Amino acid sequence: MIENLKYRFSRFMQGRYGVDSLSRFLSFFLLAFIVVGMFIRIPFSGLITLVVLVILYWRMFSRDIPRRYEENQKFLQLRDKLMGRFSSFGSNMSQLKDYHIYKCARCNQKIRIPRGKGHIMVRCPRCGYEFHKKS
Ligand SMILES: [Zn+2]
Repeated sequence: MIENLKYRFSRFMQGRYGVDSLSRFLSFFLLAFIVVGMFIRIPFSGLITLVVLVILYWRMFSRDIPRRYEENQKFLQLRDKLMGRFSSFGSNMSQLKDYHIYKCARCNQKIRIPRGKGHIMVRCPRCGYEFHKKS
């Protein structure tokens, strides 16, 4: 009983959750949303602004730190996934300028071959299958 009270008290003293990456993202989103809303009529913009604002402050002043932390981790994972996809798309595009991308006929492994080398022998790094290609 006393332990539980102590725990509650220390939880209380730990205070509020504060600002994290998700909060920063939401406040940035809100700012961008409001700025865009000055030029374009966005349906339900007032409602959306209010909802995001409530979520933002509710999280910031929340005492449920583990849950807020978990939310932030999920947000970071999602963000990294999206950023990873975006940057790998970008690097694929820049690679296409200097390289041909072939697929191994046997195991479908993607193989990058520099352009402008004429006929070359390609060896699949995954299964060892060898084939001729013009690059
Ligand atoms: Zn292969």
